[in-house]
This record gives sequence, structure tokens and C-alpha cells, in this order.
Amino acid sequence: MPIASVNPATGETLRSFEPMEAADIERRIARARDAFEEHRTTDHATRSRLMERTAELLDHDRDRIARTMTLEMGKPVAAARAEAAKCAKAMRWYAAHAGDLLADQHPSDADTADSGADRVVVRHRPLGVVLAVMPWNFPLWQVIRFAAPALMAGNTGLLKHASNVPQTSLYLEDLFRRAGWPEGCFQSLLVGSGAVEGILRDTRVAAATLTGSEPAGRAVAAVAGDEVKKTVLELGGSDPYIVMPSADVARAAATAVVARAQNNGQSCIAAKRFLVHTDVHDEFCDRFTEGMRELAVGDPMAESTQVGPLALEQGRADLAALVDDAAERGARVLTGGRRPPALDRGWFYEPTVLAGVDPGMRIHREETFGPVATVYRVHGVGEAIALANDTPFGLSSNVWTREEAETERFARDIEAGGVFFNGMTASHPAYPFGGVKRSGYGRELAGQGIREFCNVTTLWYG
Ligand code: NDP
Repeated sequence: MPIASVNPATGETLRSFEPMEAADIERRIARARDAFEEHRTTDHATRSRLMERTAELLDHDRDRIARTMTLEMGKPVAAARAEAAKCAKAMRWYAAHAGDLLADQHPSDADTADSGADRVVVRHRPLGVVLAVMPWNFPLWQVIRFAAPALMAGNTGLLKHASNVPQTSLYLEDLFRRAGWPEGCFQSLLVGSGAVEGILRDTRVAAATLTGSEPAGRAVAAVAGDEVKKTVLELGGSDPYIVMPSADVARAAATAVVARAQNNGQSCIAAKRFLVHTDVHDEFCDRFTEGMRELAVGDPMAESTQVGPLALEQGRADLAALVDDAAERGARVLTGGRRPPALDRGWFYEPTVLAGVDPGMRIHREETFGPVATVYRVHGVGEAIALANDTPFGLSSNVWTREEAETERFARDIEAGGVFFNGMTASHPAYPFGGVKRSGYGRELAGQGIREFCNVTTLWYG
């Protein structure tokens, strides 16, 4: 993929970049490693001050960077501003909490005596240079979700961002530089995916984190495995959204529209499969379909737009192919199912609801990365759980019920990294985020996230 900003609302190429040359990459890796030697010795108070300053600058830049994101990947500009605000919040959260999250731990006196030590301390020391391979869908948030905890822990970061968001990538490097982080603490590498293997094999790079598709995750994890380097993978999802008879159906349907159509439908934690109990199925379907149909699709720069174009032309083609396959095999298209005729310049796709999906259709097992929902009728908790788990993915899930016994079963049996009751999945700096099965491994955010790239060191004093 060429490294370029292409406006998905028009198809117009705004700026192209030459990939960095080998000598430049080498300089940046060396700088990241040198910076680590200094940064790893700084205290939490110093890092917190820098992180607070970064958040301040980002708040100040919010409108500007939101427009850049919208131009590069098409999310509605109001959502882009909200993304920038969320990043500043995560930075402040880690600035406030990293010291406590990484504080020395002391095994009990009994265990210490039992080991023959005078004193034992468990210390979280940083790992080193972490390579972050990141996607375009939340081009600021995905990076900050990694960078805020990683830098607070004393690591340094090299960002290989998706090739279609180079200006956001360069903005991020500039942001950390302006905030006063020592040179080399956070750098962007404008390189294609083919350069990732060489960078990851470099002995100065300690670990990698990747958010993106399963093939990309597999490729990076394979190299890291060969090099015995730690990885965190956040891959795709096909989250179930279960509605049981005790639910507030009107609220469940209204929330379902947001949960499916957020970020133009291109979110790993978007609800994608709607599993609705037969008692409330028809009411939910009517309300949900109506809500999807009424979404304002159009220019993502317009404040009133709720759904913009897909970020990539190929992404729209892949999505349309999934819908066409389902329709040809007998699924019913309740709304959408095509490109909006009035928006023929960009990579738009109508918000779509499909019913009558069965396991023989590709859409049953593959992720829909765009505003397309599938609705299934279920007859009880057991069937809902079985269908929810009948997917290669396991990122998050949503359940609408007021029944305590049902709640406990869903909490126990759904195979996913999150179960959100009577609401939609959203990430928050204080809660761990990540998946199981083909959605990846490891966790981001919260204490779990900041410890992923730490060398948990046992200090034993005799
Ligand atoms: P990709 O996985 O292709 O891209 C994500 C990042 O990985 C980009 O920086 C990309 O670089 C890089 N990359 C791709 N292939 C390789 C490789 N073989 N080795 C090293 N790096 C690689 O995602 P798409 O752009 O295709 O996004 C679509 C899919 O990604 C969705 O269908 C969804 O499943 C998944 N996704 C998951 C997210 C999550 O949060 N879990 C978020 C976003 C997407 P380049 O751009 O240069 O190709």
C-alpha cells in the first residue's frame, strides 16, 4: 500500500510520502534505544509531568488533528474530536496512576522468611524499545492506548502506523516532541508493512504490539515468536449483542444503532451480530432497522453526519462481497445493502441490516468491518450463548437482560474479553481491554496494560 493520505469521502489523494530509507530507520532505532537508556532511569513524577503536558497540547490541537483524521480516514469530525479528548483523558489517567500501578510489591513476611531472604521486592522495570504496529480506524486512540502506559513505564516507542494515516502518524511524533519527551522516546516510522519484520528482528527492539487484522497479527507474532520477543495482539471481533425478554427493548435498539454504526461501522468492538429472543425479536428488529435507516450518511466534515465513508476502497469491496454472498444465499436485506446512489464519489456504504443469516453464509463467520448488522432469532439463554460463541473471535460482547440468573450465566459462559450488560462496549483507561480466541491476547489499558511491557523483576536480598 502506498504511504498516502487519500480522502475516502472523495477518493482524492491529498499527500503522498516516500517510505523511509534503511539508513533513516537505522538512525531511529538507534535513537530509540539510546533514549531508553536515559528514560528508564527517570522517576514517575518526571514522566507524569511530561504526560500531562502532552495531554494539554493535544487538547489545544483537538480541532486541527480531528480534521486531519477525518480527511485521512473518513470518521465524522465530531467523533474525531471525541477521540482526541479521550486520548488526553487516558494520558492524564496514566499520569495520575502509573506510579501506584507499578509500585514495588512485597511478598508476605512468611514467604520472605520461608525463602531465606531478609527482604524481597518485586519491581516493574521497563522492557525497552517497543514497536507498535497500528491501524487506521482510531488513528490517535489506538496509538495512545499503547504509548501512554508504555512511556509511563519507562519504555520508548517506535510507531509503524497504517499507510493511509501518515499525517496523523507524523502529528503524534511531533506532539510528544513538543511536550518535551527526550528525543527518541516516541518516533514514527513511515514504512510499509514489508519493513516490519526487519525492525522487529533488530536486537535493539524488545517487543511489539499490534492492533489490526488477523493476518497482520499472525505475521508479526510469528516473527516475534522466532525472536522470542513479547507481543500483545488486538485483532478483529464479531461481538454478539444479545437482547432477552426482560430488556428495555427501545433502549436496546437505540443503543444497538450506535454500537453498530460508530466509527462508520469500523470498530473492532462494534456490536456486529444481534441475537434477539423471539419474544422481543420483531419489536427490536423494527426499531433497530428504522434507526439504521435514519442515520445521516454523508460528508464526514459536516457536523450533522453520523456515518461517513469507509476508510479504504478495498474495505468497501470486502464488505459488499459479504452482504452480496448472504443475500444470494437467502438472507433478507431489511435496509441498505448497497452503495448510496447519491454519494458516488467516496467509499460510502448504506447502513445495512440482514436477517435470516445461516452458518453457510460467509458473513456468519467473518467480521463485517462497516455498518452492516446481522440479526438472529434465539429462543433461550443456552441458544444465545451457543450462537454468541459460534465465532472464531472473542473480543467483547453485550447482553441486555434484567434477570439476575441470566446475567450470571452470560458472565460465566460468553467467550470474550468483556461482557457489557445493558449498554454497549466502550473502552476506558481504568478497565482492561483485549480478547481471546482469534481476537488476540494480552491486555491494554488499566494496570494489566501498563504491566504488559515490563520486566517483572524479583529482587531477593539475603
Ligand atoms: P491491517 O491489519 O492490514 O493493518 C493494521 C496494521 O498492520 C497497519 O499498520 C498495516 O500496515 C500493518 N500490517 C498489515 N499487514 C502486515 C504484515 N504482514 N506485517 C506487518 N504489519 C502488517 O488492517 P486493515 O487496514 O486491513 O484493517 C482491517 C481489519 O483490521 C479489520 O477487518 C479488523 O479485523 C482489523 N482491525 C482490528 C482492530 C482492533 O482494534 N482489534 C482495529 C482495526 C482493524 P499497512 O497499512 O502498511 O498495510
